[in-house]
Amino acid sequence: MNQQYDLVIVGGGMVGAATALALADSSLNIALLERNLPESFSVDQPLDLRVSALSPASIELLDRLDVWKTITAQRACPYRRMRVWELDEDAEGLIGKAARACATEFNSAEIGLDQLGYIVENRLIQRALLDKLALCEQVTLITDGVVSIDYSAGATLVELDSGESLIARLLVAGDGGESMVRQAAALGAHQWDYGQMAMVINVATADSQQDITWQQFNPSGPRALLPLPGNNASLVWYDSPERVQALLAMDLLSLQQEILHSFPARLGAIEAIHGRAAFPLRRMHAQHYVAEGVALLGDAAHQINPLAGQGVNLGFQDVEVFAEVILEAIGQGESPGSLAVLKRYENRRRKANLLMMQTMDFFYRAFSNHQTSLKVARNLLLGAAGFAKPLRNKALRVASGIDRF
Ligand SMILES: Cc1cc2nc3c(=O)[nH]c(=O)nc-3n(C[C@H](O)[C@H](O)[C@H](O)COP(=O)(O)OP(=O)(O)OC[C@H]3O[C@@H](n4cnc5c(N)ncnc54)[C@H](O)[C@@H]3O)c2cc1C
Repeated sequence: MNQQYDLVIVGGGMVGAATALALADSSLNIALLERNLPESFSVDQPLDLRVSALSPASIELLDRLDVWKTITAQRACPYRRMRVWELDEDAEGLIGKAARACATEFNSAEIGLDQLGYIVENRLIQRALLDKLALCEQVTLITDGVVSIDYSAGATLVELDSGESLIARLLVAGDGGESMVRQAAALGAHQWDYGQMAMVINVATADSQQDITWQQFNPSGPRALLPLPGNNASLVWYDSPERVQALLAMDLLSLQQEILHSFPARLGAIEAIHGRAAFPLRRMHAQHYVAEGVALLGDAAHQINPLAGQGVNLGFQDVEVFAEVILEAIGQGESPGSLAVLKRYENRRRKANLLMMQTMDFFYRAFSNHQTSLKVARNLLLGAAGFAKPLRNKALRVASGIDRF
């Protein structure tokens, strides 16, 4: 017999697991499918290569879900400042002076916050959510793989590799950019490849710079630092696929030399490289987030350039709105999987996500252009943003999830 659920969530990553937890106290009978369970935390565990800069709004959600204390008791690094620039600030004389004038620095104190956010390992966020879910009677965690999904409004059949099948009244995609759910429900997607890769490298640095994230734009792509607990950092190096493949193939000593040569001088000396990995840069936006009996959340609905660290923050905003809409519908006696209910979620999230994606693309394209006139214009813009406090504060409040555009 097929097991019936009110809600089946495919993908128990950060977004899928948060969705299950946000609805765990409702009357819904929930199955969460996750095929790769993350390891439990231990103090001597190496730092995960996948880390996220979490906004205050995301932290609030994790706190409400009662997992934030667990995460901070393990490992998390708060940051208070964020600096963005293009020209060489360490150059001598007038050039250096002009470069420093064109840099923009954001500070949490300017918008009355203790910090702009925290950098946290993805594995710890996912694990804390899954551990909390294990205590919820209404949620069943299933670790079998999905063989096929036969979408049918209000009664989707999900076949597992164990031979069992589930019937979902409402099916939710938390299964990331390659979403099987999105494809099964034929929700469509606009997507393209930026023709670049993002290489992440975890390092131990000689200098402490644990209260700041920074990003320097270069003709071949940005170079960024995200602080991690201790004197550790996650470096992000955007470059062509060929260059990134060459960096991945290097021995650690040669890679260290390349980093010192290519990153701004403020990085200082590197004492060790803990690990490296690379990800293709692509943008994807689902044409529809919902249909009768199905909804997409997080990367299954949108993949954004990681330039400003917004991907999972947008995903958590999806979770927030989705849970609110579903709980309200249940309270009013409506069917949570009906198209009318799910459209309320789509209407509140699709445009907002699109606007953030377009803003990131604007910055990415403006700073990837080599024309001198554009270079002057964008540096003047950065400089002006540095001086224009209201503009800077608005950008900060939007990035923090406090304000909408
Ligand atoms: C280099 C880089 C840096 C980034 N930095 C940031 C940042 O600083 N801040 C930020 O907000 N975002 C950042 N992001 C984006 C962020 O990582 C993603 O937005 C986030 O991981 C999306 O979470 P998700 O749960 O929607 O999807 P995913 O993380 O892709 O999780 C999907 C889950 O579904 C599971 N799954 C998939 N298919 C199936 C199946 N058929 N059956 C069962 N399980 C399945 C997978 O195992 C996985 O656990 C970054 C991305 C990159 C590439």
